[in-house]
Amino acid sequence: MLGIKKGDTVVVRVGRDKGVKGKVLRVFRKEGRAIVEGANLVKKHMRRRSEQEAGGIIEKPAPLALSNLALYCSNCRRGVRFGVKIMKDNSKIRICKRCQNPL
Ligand SMILES: [Zn+2]
Repeated sequence: MLGIKKGDTVVVRVGRDKGVKGKVLRVFRKEGRAIVEGANLVKKHMRRRSEQEAGGIIEKPAPLALSNLALYCSNCRRGVRFGVKIMKDNSKIRICKRCQNPL
């Protein structure tokens, strides 16, 4: 699979968090969505479960559509489109469409 995967650094392309850069924490391949660290945060109310544990509101990243994410290229310093390059040994790698750097 050469799409966006867990551990990739991506940039949000549209919406409220446009331009936010973060690491992909989880990919829901079937739904075409992914959770990105620090992006699309939603407030969740947590019930206090014990005396030691504080209840209250925490912020959690909600899934974003994969089509709204771009892989981050450290060479271009921005979110980029990527292409696939077939290597001599037939393995495939992702490359930045702008600078041809492997992603
Ligand atoms: Zn690049």
